[in-house]
Amino acid sequence: MLKNLFSPVRIGKIEIPNRLIVAPMVMNYCNNDGTATERYIAYHEAKAKGGWGLIITEDYAIDPKGRGFSNIPGLWEDSQIESHAELTKRIHKYGTKIIAQIYHAGRQTNHFVIGSQPVAPSPIPCPSNQEIPHELTIKEIQELVEKFGDCALRAKKAGFDGVEIHGAHGYLIAQFMSPYSNKRTDEYGGSFLNRMRFPLEIISNIRAKAGNDFPIIFRISGDEFVPGGRTIEDTKAIAILLEKAGINAIHVSAGVYASAHAIIPPSAVRHGWITDFAAEIKKVVSIPVITVGRINDPFLAEEIISSGKADLVSMGRGSLADPELPNKAAVGKFGEIRHCIGCMQGCIERLFKNIDVKCLVNPTLGREIEFAIKPATSKKKIFIAGGGPAGMEAAIVVAKRGYEVHLYEKTDKLGGQFELAAVPPNKGEFATFTAWQKTQLKKLNVNVYLNTELTTEIVDSEKPDVVIIATGGRPAIPNIPGVDKPNVVTAHNVLKGKVDVGHKVIVIGGGMVGSETADHLANHGKEVTILEQLPEIAKDEQDSVRYFLLKDLKENNVAIYTNTPVKEIVDDGVIVDRNGKEEKISPTDTIVLAVGVKPVNELVNKLEGKVNKLITVGDALEVRKALEAIEEGYKAGLEA
Ligand code: SF4
Repeated sequence: MLKNLFSPVRIGKIEIPNRLIVAPMVMNYCNNDGTATERYIAYHEAKAKGGWGLIITEDYAIDPKGRGFSNIPGLWEDSQIESHAELTKRIHKYGTKIIAQIYHAGRQTNHFVIGSQPVAPSPIPCPSNQEIPHELTIKEIQELVEKFGDCALRAKKAGFDGVEIHGAHGYLIAQFMSPYSNKRTDEYGGSFLNRMRFPLEIISNIRAKAGNDFPIIFRISGDEFVPGGRTIEDTKAIAILLEKAGINAIHVSAGVYASAHAIIPPSAVRHGWITDFAAEIKKVVSIPVITVGRINDPFLAEEIISSGKADLVSMGRGSLADPELPNKAAVGKFGEIRHCIGCMQGCIERLFKNIDVKCLVNPTLGREIEFAIKPATSKKKIFIAGGGPAGMEAAIVVAKRGYEVHLYEKTDKLGGQFELAAVPPNKGEFATFTAWQKTQLKKLNVNVYLNTELTTEIVDSEKPDVVIIATGGRPAIPNIPGVDKPNVVTAHNVLKGKVDVGHKVIVIGGGMVGSETADHLANHGKEVTILEQLPEIAKDEQDSVRYFLLKDLKENNVAIYTNTPVKEIVDDGVIVDRNGKEEKISPTDTIVLAVGVKPVNELVNKLEGKVNKLITVGDALEVRKALEAIEEGYKAGLEA
């Protein structure tokens, strides 16, 4: 069915068994000295086992001062080769090729990570890191060129099948190539060829040290999406030059840190959006072109290859969400694929806190060994209260272990609050995960009881060995006069489609739920006002998710009042405190409450001492995001 996707292709001298590539994604799993950990190797090994044709690793630093994150790999000295040789050996066992991406972060880092001032072509700070970099001297530039070549040679010695030069995303090489960040007037700045001198010298240094037949991919942003930055026309000219310089493939991405929403876009951005740039590059080069960017499904990948827009498709988050995507697609098990939903919670939100990456839909990511499911050695009856994502995840794990599992859900639907998360604009993909969990429950023959609350009576009579409480949360109701008026509803009931909402709406609470509910209503033609007592709205959203949400709210003319606590709800509006003065906001038809969630955990106390093991997970334990709830559900399944 996907014959193009599963046909081999060559990059230089290496043959890749299929067109599916693991895109470079920083995971922060390595030791601080740049050596590989078992966690880092096992993470890659899961992908090789999963059938990916080629893995392009995350960025190997050519110099410790060139690291953008604390725990990335490095090949800046020979002593680092051995641990990475173990990685390549383990990957090659599965027939998968592995290429090391090599890089220097330039100004897109800070002294907290590298312990000193960052460096750059010009002393202009990166808008997101804000640290003024040291302007590299000619001698320092030439030393860095040598370090790129040395790093590539070490990669070859470690058994990598080639290197990818990271010239994208605003890192040091991209900084030199772009007039946005390169303001030099010597031989490394100014004209097009001068700005290209640094990458071209790096390519010839690698060729001289690692050999003419050592494959080199060059990664580049098709468009930088910053004022005065490179556009696709500039990038096409660069691609022609790079091909002449002898690279073997080009990997087209987008953005720099100042336009981070373009580098790793959330669900608000259309699938495969960068492929248009790859198709433009393909018009001007004859080497293989790799595309990336919100591609999370094999059918989409097949269409890209068959329509000739690119030769290979790389998936970053698609491979985090399901390392076995290629194997499942190859045998037609499409319903088994766990898709990346573009939530950003586990990967990007954590990465930019400089901590290890996780995945909301795949709790085993980076814990392939410790979270492995081992078959049961005894018989157990396990009851789960609550059919939200945490409860379903627990049920899936318990069933895979081979225990008898019974899942009780008091409403007529599985999915809990996560079903509601899929309702606002740009969030529809969230439903794919709930759908995947439901498919798994069916496949594993889990006993599911809808419209049935797990009670102490059921526990007393059925005597389960373990009970997992995953009863989630319920909307908090603020203590405001007038909150019980008939036109006051909760955001949860709005998203469930349980209440009618009038034309003029006030949403009390501008967190993630309130802001997204406001967006949902505004998209349905309502006139919406958000009232938030904090200085900003949606601060609990990841930055890129928030960027698109705020854009949407603006386009839909949603009125936003921050620093505005609500004092009272009256018949035709609300009384608020604005700068110490009472003000009435009216008229309004419906008032929507979105002031948070409270745990539903009454069953915990009732069952204490009644069962051998009681485990509470997700919002029932403490209200947090779905990432934590699903991980706890998975762990409870292992511990039960
Ligand atoms: Fe995709 Fe969310 Fe997983 Fe990141 S955490 S890979 S965005 S599903």
